[in-house]
Amino acid sequence: MNISLIYMENENRTLAYAASEAREYLRRMFAGIGASVSVKTDRQAAADAAGCLTISLEIDAAADTRNDHFDIQIGPKGGRIAGNNARSVLIGVYHYLYLLGCRFLGPGKDLELVPELTDTECLYQSCSHTASYYHRGVCIEGSESLENALDFIDWLPKMGYNTCFIQFQIPYTFFARWYRHEANPYLEPEEFTAQDAARYSDIMTEELKKRDLLLQMVGHGWTGESIGIPSMDWKTSDIQITDRQRSMLAQVNGKREFFRGIPMNTNLCYSNPDVVEAFSESVVRYAASHPGVDYLHVWLADECNNLCECEECAKSAPTDQYIRILNVIDEKLTARGLDTRIVFLLYQELLWPPVEEKLKNPNRFVLMFAPISRSFNSAYQLDEELPPIPAYERNHITLPVNLGQNLAYLRAWQEHFDGDSFVYDYHLGRAHFGDLGYVHISRIINDDIARLGKMKLNGHISCQEFRAGMPNFLPNYVMGRKLLDIDSDFDEMTREYYQAAYGAGWENVLAYLTELSRLSDCDYFNKKGPRTNPDVAERMRRARRLTDEFAQSAYFAEKPEGALQIRFQEMLRYHCGYVVYLEDALGELAAGKTAEAKESWTRFIDTIRKNELKFQPYLDVYRIHEVSLNFTGFRKYCGCAAPQRM
Ligand SMILES: [Zn+2]
Repeated sequence: MNISLIYMENENRTLAYAASEAREYLRRMFAGIGASVSVKTDRQAAADAAGCLTISLEIDAAADTRNDHFDIQIGPKGGRIAGNNARSVLIGVYHYLYLLGCRFLGPGKDLELVPELTDTECLYQSCSHTASYYHRGVCIEGSESLENALDFIDWLPKMGYNTCFIQFQIPYTFFARWYRHEANPYLEPEEFTAQDAARYSDIMTEELKKRDLLLQMVGHGWTGESIGIPSMDWKTSDIQITDRQRSMLAQVNGKREFFRGIPMNTNLCYSNPDVVEAFSESVVRYAASHPGVDYLHVWLADECNNLCECEECAKSAPTDQYIRILNVIDEKLTARGLDTRIVFLLYQELLWPPVEEKLKNPNRFVLMFAPISRSFNSAYQLDEELPPIPAYERNHITLPVNLGQNLAYLRAWQEHFDGDSFVYDYHLGRAHFGDLGYVHISRIINDDIARLGKMKLNGHISCQEFRAGMPNFLPNYVMGRKLLDIDSDFDEMTREYYQAAYGAGWENVLAYLTELSRLSDCDYFNKKGPRTNPDVAERMRRARRLTDEFAQSAYFAEKPEGALQIRFQEMLRYHCGYVVYLEDALGELAAGKTAEAKESWTRFIDTIRKNELKFQPYLDVYRIHEVSLNFTGFRKYCGCAAPQRM
């Protein structure tokens, strides 16, 4: 058996990469029958080879859609995998491999199932698909190594994603947290500089461009950086600032200073013309020097109730001030011939729609709705009548928790802007740690994505830890597949994932993790509701018994066949081993037993710290430590000086 992969656009490196990926996997799958798989750039040479099945990889711009589209038509005489852009050809190649039985169960080659095939007739496949949404991606949060980031980028098109958002001008803080091992005293801290982060950002960009994936960048940080104050993380700063810099900071409670000491969370005095000039110049300079950035996020400071209270600022709604700056940025970009798209944010104060201003060139902009304060115990609710938006009161807002309240802001905004848009959501940013089984949060992701169309949103960017794989990567698996195809069925995806990951015992594993999810409470973990909560206490007691029983169950009695399922079994055994301490800690916290809660939480943190390197790609120790401290409420039990982040 000979298979030839050809691609005609010789200059297109993504097609060349797609061909090399197809060759690699087809070779592995058909190694048992000695199949020869080669890549050619000459159609004639491929056609001349007798008995050769030729598959051509092509860009077919004829597809009548902006969304990614691929077309797989391969029969006994060969055929093609075409896409409306190079990225879609690559996504089409991975989808073809999926149809042949490959399963990409997480970032990293060791979480891939590549079946051994002997029947070449299965190569004949026919499938044409247009992605359900345009924006399908993830945004870097948490703490990760360069390898974690590159493995995740490699995984993205395999799951149908098309976008990666590298947060900040330089993603320093996410890498520094890992390399400096900020939350793990058992590991020796390594040097890590802003220059290292810039280099890593370039490497990530290169890997994204190789796959023709869309790059989004920045977000917060402009406020400080535009007036010369470094803003790469959420840490306090004791930098000495000039009088001129101070005059540009927001005046809160009569003082112009860093908000609670943190530049990242400090707004500027947006009525000051020098601020508008510095801010807009900073954005335009960045866009001009980063032509690879497809979508540039322009956000104000993080946090809320930190806006300028000076006489002039108090005359305008914050959103109007924001839009004035965005319009200046647009004019300057147009003047310089730059077509970078600008993403603007509905978040905190900016959830309130504008009063007087309007975006003058809506095609430049993409609306991003970020319901950071939402509940994750249920999915977006569409049917209920939406409540009215409360009147805006400067520096005295409370954020909406209820999903209906969140959506009320979105709908009000949509009356002012009907251009491109997506949701930026946080299922895997904090809340997921509260779902001990990961089945619940996966279902919420599935149900939320199903509803985006009705919310008039064209996609989903997940603000998340890349190391969100304990006990498995089902949440990101479901997210990618559902964004690509809204008709994907949750139960089918889950079954398919568990069968591939756990083999013969998969149903027992699924039953256990489903029940563990049912007993979990994402919102409790995420600071919502009173800390003393008898219901959570009772459920965590039951979760503890459940995990104890499962750890002794038949699933662990036998070692599965194959390295992949052994890996997943090891991950699950490890998960059972530490999650019992977390179940105890949460139950005791919710029961008001503080001494016991302290002991259990310390045992939990100590266990995952000691074992971090063994399971490094799957559990973000920095982040679960930080969230359980600052959100769940274990801070008072912790002796360490962990960074504070709201
Ligand atoms: Zn002001």
